Amino acid sequence: MTAIPPLLLEVEGLGGMVLMNTPKFIVDHNVGKLAKWLRIMGYDTRFFNGADDADLVATALAEGRVILTRDTQIVKRGIITSGRLKAFLIQSDDPEQQMRQVIDRLNLDCQLRPFALCLECNQPLQERSKQQVKDLVPPYVFQTQSQYMECPACHRIYWRGTHWQAMTNRLRKFVEASAQEGGR
Ligand SMILES: [Zn+2]
Repeated sequence: MTAIPPLLLEVEGLGGMVLMNTPKFIVDHNVGKLAKWLRIMGYDTRFFNGADDADLVATALAEGRVILTRDTQIVKRGIITSGRLKAFLIQSDDPEQQMRQVIDRLNLDCQLRPFALCLECNQPLQERSKQQVKDLVPPYVFQTQSQYMECPACHRIYWRGTHWQAMTNRLRKFVEASAQEGGR
């Protein structure tokens, strides 16, 4: 594997931080698909869709977030190379490869806080009773599911249905594949 030394340095620096507390992320628009996957795992993840790198860096710094990006210019910035701000360079164009790289190299826990964050807006979900969602979910869902969560911002209702299960199964496959490739 042609691992680039600066990348390894970043990972080592990040590794120490991950041990102390759960990282929060800011995902650049060029790796935007990572946002949903990280939120499924329960990692607080902001999506950056602005055009100006300086805004990305400023937000990351202000909110204590690790930058995930494919932009090599960002990781060359002094604030990153000096270690004041963490950034992780994503190497693949393929979203599944990206997720595997992130899980593997940043030692993420895919069971951190499942079912905790809105996949669209990153808000902490709130529990709702079955009666509260009666008119908000399809009848077959109401009949078969007992646990519901609502996003206080966009008001999407979540339940552990087939879509959710399919996504968590895919996530598990990323982790298994990463573990096999890493020989662990
Ligand atoms: Zn939401």
